[in-house]
Amino acid sequence: DELRTPGAVRDAQRWTAHNYHPLPVVIASAEGAWLTDVDGRRYLDCLAGYSALNFGHRHPKLVDAAHAQLDRLTLTSRAFIHDQFADFCRELAQLCGKDLVLPMNTGAEAVETGIKVARKWGYQVKGVTPGQANIVVAEGNFHGRTTTIVSFSTDEEARADYGPYTPGFRVVPYGDLDALTAAIDGDTVAVLLEPIQGEQGVIVPPAGYLPGVRQVCTTRNVLLLADEIQSGLGRTGTTFACEHEDVVPDMYLLGKALGGGIVPVSAVAADAEVLGVLKPGEHGSTFGGNPLACAVGTEVVRLLATGEFQRRSAELGARLHGGLQALVGKGLLAVRGRGLWAGLDIDPALMTGREASERLMTRGVLAKDTHGSTIRLAPPLVITEEEIDYALAQLAAVLTE
Ligand code: PLP
Repeated sequence: DELRTPGAVRDAQRWTAHNYHPLPVVIASAEGAWLTDVDGRRYLDCLAGYSALNFGHRHPKLVDAAHAQLDRLTLTSRAFIHDQFADFCRELAQLCGKDLVLPMNTGAEAVETGIKVARKWGYQVKGVTPGQANIVVAEGNFHGRTTTIVSFSTDEEARADYGPYTPGFRVVPYGDLDALTAAIDGDTVAVLLEPIQGEQGVIVPPAGYLPGVRQVCTTRNVLLLADEIQSGLGRTGTTFACEHEDVVPDMYLLGKALGGGIVPVSAVAADAEVLGVLKPGEHGSTFGGNPLACAVGTEVVRLLATGEFQRRSAELGARLHGGLQALVGKGLLAVRGRGLWAGLDIDPALMTGREASERLMTRGVLAKDTHGSTIRLAPPLVITEEEIDYALAQLAAVLTE
């Protein structure tokens, strides 16, 4: 029988802009941590939709919530209130320990919302010079793809030829508290950071960095915006990556897994003195906080409230990292990460990250390279010990074959 994959790959390439370089695999269905392609081959998902699938593919509670909501109400716009809205906002606010939630759709929109709110807070509450608000960000950041967000990216691939760029951002080295402190002045309204830099290769900052940032933000009356879009919601073994160092930001930016891998759902969570600066008409989104998003999002928050997924990530993450550490010096140069999240630097003398991903694919494991020889592993948190061992065995084989 002829394989369907090659034709399906060709078709997909023919009809889209080439803004991605996907692996040549065409997925038809999935359940839990496993994917099946159009030719019936099965793969262990070690990317989990860039961490949007923390609860696995088609988690029964999330699918049930979506089905039930599809049969009742899908969209009202925020011109009216719907009956799923309050529960979602209350339960998410409580999970975050914040007063208020503002729902949006994509991660980039949550970041944009955070930037807008921080600026408005700066002018209206802190009293910074009109038109001069600045936000301190980190080298190697990834916060999304909008024109304002790529304006302060340090990745030329993401930034080049998209100018003119939005001013008002100061870029400092990630993990360097002195540089960050020196960049703050009287017109600084916020520090925007990923507590662990995902796209950059799962970069964990030095111990004490995040608490130091927290302290300087408090002292200088600057908002700390934690972009937990990739690091949050169980990925690192805690609800938020900031918790590893007992840091509480002024604003959580959330996305990806908040929609359970079913619908795009993002949100900003903060206290009333921050989010309260927004008045009717000053910000919004047609789909933000829609009934389907809220029904699924509420169920996501309830799954997280059990603590089960955070526990799994911590325990299984220890197994994953133990196995990966054993490969350092045997094809891997370094391994970083927390919980079920790892960045692996493959020895570039052996192969590129792309080659490693392709070889893993032929062995039934799907992962994706990020920046040269780095591979990111972020399996769904429903993955089992045996499946982790399977992924590790395939990786070891790829590194030695
Ligand atoms: N922030 C972080 C830390 C991310 O990892 C991402 C996506 O990878 C985003 C923001 C952007 O999210 P989205 O692609 O949903 O706009």
